[in-house]
Amino acid sequence: MRGWLSVAGGLRDEDWAIRHRLLTLLLPISIVPLTLFGFASGGPYSVWLLSVTLILPCLAGAALLRPRRLRSILVAVGLTVACGGFVVLGGGGLTEPHFSFFIVAAALALYRDWMPFGVFLTGTLVIHVANDHRSAMLHPWVWVLVHGLAVLTAAAFHVVAWRLSETAERRAQDDLATSQAQLSMAFDETPVPMAMYAPDGRLQRCNPAYRSWLGLPDQLPPDFAITDLPLTRVGHERGTYLSEVLSEPDASIKDIEAYRRHDDGSLIWIETHTNGLRDRSGRLQSVFVHCRDVTRQQEHEAGLRRQVREDSLTGLLSRSAFEQDLVELLATNGDPVSVLYLDVDRFKTINDASGHSGGDDVLRALAARLRLIVPRGSLIARLGGDEFVIAHPGPIEGGLDIGRAVLASLTQPLPLAGGQVQLALSIGLAVAHDPAQTGQAMQAADTAMYSAKRAGGNRLEIFNDEMRVVVQQRITAESRLRQALDGDRMATLPVWFQPIVSPATDLIVGAEALVRMRTSEGEILAPGHFIAAAEETGLVVPLGEHVLATALSRLQQWRHELGYVSVNVSPRQLNEPDFVPTLARLLADSGLDDPSRLVLEITETALLSNSADLQNRLHAIKALGVRIALDDFGTGYSSLTWLQSVPADIVKLDRSFVAGLAHDSRKESIISAVLWLARSLNMSAVAEGVEDLADWEALRAADCPAIQGYFFSRPVPAEDFHEMLTPLRRSSLKTA
Ligand code: C2E
Ligand code: MG
Ligand code: MG
Repeated sequence: MRGWLSVAGGLRDEDWAIRHRLLTLLLPISIVPLTLFGFASGGPYSVWLLSVTLILPCLAGAALLRPRRLRSILVAVGLTVACGGFVVLGGGGLTEPHFSFFIVAAALALYRDWMPFGVFLTGTLVIHVANDHRSAMLHPWVWVLVHGLAVLTAAAFHVVAWRLSETAERRAQDDLATSQAQLSMAFDETPVPMAMYAPDGRLQRCNPAYRSWLGLPDQLPPDFAITDLPLTRVGHERGTYLSEVLSEPDASIKDIEAYRRHDDGSLIWIETHTNGLRDRSGRLQSVFVHCRDVTRQQEHEAGLRRQVREDSLTGLLSRSAFEQDLVELLATNGDPVSVLYLDVDRFKTINDASGHSGGDDVLRALAARLRLIVPRGSLIARLGGDEFVIAHPGPIEGGLDIGRAVLASLTQPLPLAGGQVQLALSIGLAVAHDPAQTGQAMQAADTAMYSAKRAGGNRLEIFNDEMRVVVQQRITAESRLRQALDGDRMATLPVWFQPIVSPATDLIVGAEALVRMRTSEGEILAPGHFIAAAEETGLVVPLGEHVLATALSRLQQWRHELGYVSVNVSPRQLNEPDFVPTLARLLADSGLDDPSRLVLEITETALLSNSADLQNRLHAIKALGVRIALDDFGTGYSSLTWLQSVPADIVKLDRSFVAGLAHDSRKESIISAVLWLARSLNMSAVAEGVEDLADWEALRAADCPAIQGYFFSRPVPAEDFHEMLTPLRRSSLKTA
């Protein structure tokens, strides 16, 4: 029973005060009906007077005294007196005055306290004992029971109501305690610095991590505010820490900013997450702040950004930084910008000669020289490899001056740790006008640079539309070539043959295999249209394999009629690591009995990178028994050392060297000397590009072993060439 009963009390002071004020008010109010009823019922006035006299001190005590319980007892006494007054004034027998007991029972239940409630119940019983109507006089205890029971039952329900609401409250309190414990755990135990601020900036609560991170004392003054934190937002007045967050705490905000810490003056980066906590009416109550010290991360990222902006070898701008800055330069100035694309001529040779780190030194020295020449306000970047780019705002003349100055400066060798090096550059210039077209401008400058390179290097070319056409043609050539390689190669990439003839016998001794391309429209294209693109894209590798396989199979087919076939091998092909194994496989597949009947023609450009690797490769080719011819001898940078350093069997004298020799005695002398040299080096020779009888005769007179040229025959399809090999044709030629 005790356990079940309400523990009573337990109202918080502010809740109790509201209820007490209301119940105290009932005391003066009760005087009004008491007075009206007293006079209406005609007395006895002494009862009215007694009631009022007792109620008024209760009212004064309830209003003025301190102890909570005493005040509530005084209210209970006052109200019990009022109820008694009603009953006695009603003559005791009247039922309605008794209603006041039920009203007061309900009213006093608001205290949820046994004391005033008990006082009231006792008073109720006493009043009923003292009641003097007749029946009550005769059977006082029956009446006490009848009246008392009714009031007690009403009171009992109030007690049940207390009890039930107490249970509900306790549950709510338990829930609250649990969530508070969870909050404390999450808030106080976390290593993440956290704080709660009132909307006016006062600190409401913070966790130990926050305190130790900011070096705050354990006990903070109660009015400690956000502005008192030992931090200043960089670039702002002191005290602006998080102020913008407090001014706009609606959404969850994530922010990373730099702050200066006062004590040690260090700069720290803080990531703050803030959330505004609002009450039911939407008024802001607190701002939650979670902080993370992201200084390290921020410094790391800044380091990375710096690295990305800088070319690590030279310290110049990187490609991406250059592209960004070029856009900015165009956007801010409104001036045109000259873009100069620079590429070192024959850098590979320098790199091969001086080793990789030597090559790096050269690039660094070149970067230093460029820095001296390029004025402030311009950009210089290394795009990778031996490619550099300069952007100079203003009219094109300024860009041209820089380009010329760069070329002029390179007439002086670059100083290196172990000596010095002489460089030449090819430079392409294009003008950019629009930030949206920087990519095109760079491409145009690149194209112009290529054009400078093709013209022999060590020069500057300004981009023009013709170059654009060349680039367009290159793109077309590439796509055509891809298509041809994907199709039936015998049809799309037929191999034609041009006879190589002995002027002494007029007999065909060999043939050069020359590839052609048949377009989808049926047009036959010479290699000039696609070999350069094939070389640049690397498509020359599958193309060359096709030519080699076809030439070998034809040679096998004409083995009784033709001495040898000569096949062109491009520098790119020769540089492929598995060139020799592929060659060996194709030779084996062809079933050719004598590998010396295959001649590989290599140009001097292929030999420019005269590395040990290439030498090994040439010797490996020789070891297979295949012969090597030096193609286009007499063009480019050929020197007699080539003849000595390459294990070649045949020298092919270039057309530019040969044509017109009959009418040019100097040419004739040179040819004779080269032929003599070849003979003494145990090499054979073929004169290319012989178009007329005079040259033919002159070469025959000079004892040239073999001749190739339009005079005898142009390159022709395989079937036509085979016809030329028939004895009939040969003899008819002889008689011709
Ligand atoms: P090349 O190896 O020097 O071949 C000789 C070129 O001179 C051929 O041009 C031939 O048609 C041309 N020619 C021969 N006699 C005369 C003449 O009397 N007068 C004139 N004006 N020209 C003559 P083509 O077939 O246009 O080939 C051009 C170049 O393309 C070749 O020069 C060679 O470097 C390259 N090439 C051809 N086929 C292949 C191939 O299968 N692979 C590789 N990598 N390059 C090839
Ligand atoms: Mg050739
Ligand atoms: Mg040639």
